[in-house]
Amino acid sequence: MRFAPSPTGHLHVGNARTALFNWLFARQKRGAVVLRIEDTDVERSEARFEDQLIDDLKWLGLDWDEGPDVGGPYAPYRQSDRLDVYREYGERLLDEGKAYLCFCTEDELQQERDRAQAESRQQIYSGKCRMIDPDEAKRRRAGGESAAIRLRIPEHPIRFHDIVHGDVEFSNEVVSDPIILRSNGMPVYNYVVVIDDALMKITHVIRGDDHLSNTPKQVALYEALGWPVPEFAHLSTILGSDRERLSKRHGATSIANFRDMGVLPEALMNYLALLGWAPTGGTREIFSLEELVKEFSLERVTPSPAVFDMEKLYWLNRHYIKQCELQRLTFLGLEFFAKSGVLDRNPTSPPNSDRTVFVEKSLLDWFSRVTELFAPYVDRLDQLPERASPIFSYDARAALAAPENAEVLAWPQTKAVLDRFAVKVLENESAQVGKLSAEEFNKIVSEVKAETDVKGKELFHPIRIVVMGSHSGPAFDKLIPVLEEGSRLNLPKHVLSVRERVEAFSKARLG
Ligand code: GLU
Repeated sequence: MRFAPSPTGHLHVGNARTALFNWLFARQKRGAVVLRIEDTDVERSEARFEDQLIDDLKWLGLDWDEGPDVGGPYAPYRQSDRLDVYREYGERLLDEGKAYLCFCTEDELQQERDRAQAESRQQIYSGKCRMIDPDEAKRRRAGGESAAIRLRIPEHPIRFHDIVHGDVEFSNEVVSDPIILRSNGMPVYNYVVVIDDALMKITHVIRGDDHLSNTPKQVALYEALGWPVPEFAHLSTILGSDRERLSKRHGATSIANFRDMGVLPEALMNYLALLGWAPTGGTREIFSLEELVKEFSLERVTPSPAVFDMEKLYWLNRHYIKQCELQRLTFLGLEFFAKSGVLDRNPTSPPNSDRTVFVEKSLLDWFSRVTELFAPYVDRLDQLPERASPIFSYDARAALAAPENAEVLAWPQTKAVLDRFAVKVLENESAQVGKLSAEEFNKIVSEVKAETDVKGKELFHPIRIVVMGSHSGPAFDKLIPVLEEGSRLNLPKHVLSVRERVEAFSKARLG
């Protein structure tokens, strides 16, 4: 099996799914996974995209047995390093009469295409140079005339089997003799892919169905070279929610985008596996990679387009966030807290490690508690700072003015609760130094309850508005120590202690 990306941009969900299906199939059948970089399009290929592709694939949790970074028995695995191989087989096809030299200039070919278009005919090559005597053609080339090499397509329909689409047939007339090596010596995708797949002993070609129409040319090449044709499986197109082909218009589509949004790789992989594949019989949707390796089957991949459903991805992400070990979640979350400015990026972080934020142990422990408090409320980790904003950007005036607090603040019992609560907190010695414990806080609340005779939500909602700015949120027992300890930490923006919150609130309330 192989995954053969072109380093012309970021890794997108479509390609990532192709990589995943190849990987699952290979791991299940105990075959080798090959990563091959298809960079013969020199104008569009860039080395940085290759590095990024490799990074993204690794982040997803995929690995490979052969590839440009790990080597292997059929190296090199980067097509731009294999040009001699392609030239050699091109000459062989010429010598065997399976291919011929074509001297048509770009202008002539364009005129042919224009004529075909004007007469509403299919734009296929006329076959003009097919007739030139091969010896004469070679002499012309040796004399300096520039020539491309074209494959001679046989005079019969081209058939192949596709595991997803069944038997496929293309009439030879629609295929026309394709160029395999351009006159400047650069080989063409349909040709190099066949040479490489055959030499690298690829048995199954699993890729996007945008390549279905290329396959007859490739099958003709296998036949011309006398090589066995591999099995094909063309995966359906991925559509956006409006049933148009998924593109940037639909928002996040690259793996890097999802990573930046705080989607966990296991959630994304689980989601991608369900794009066009479903397990036998079940409605089960949660799968680890190991489980997918066991369950996956190409026969159950559907040929109809798959619609990318962001809500379902978020649903899976919430599931995996809840499963995630707190320490790992904390490290992942730090990146987003740093981005939002509530945490400094440590200047001693190694360069290029823009994702890993190094912090002291005390800060790490504290952020881990913040993460634990707020992670249950997010779809994606990039929402953590916003969710945790009552900790970092408490604003008494905004709390008093918020329409969702209006009802609670207008309850007749509220004033007494707020007054007593403020007095008790301001009297408390631990609260003066930012060390109010959860027990002491509960004691204060009980006393307010006893003194005002208000209980239940009439008691708790107003207090929560004072402490957090909103009447909903995490339980006080965990929250209070987090606020108190946060107020004693050295953060770029001071976290207000409970006492400071009470003071700010009273000041705003009483004008
Ligand atoms: N390099 C091709 C692409 O990125 C892959 C073609 C193939 O898998 O055969 O679309």
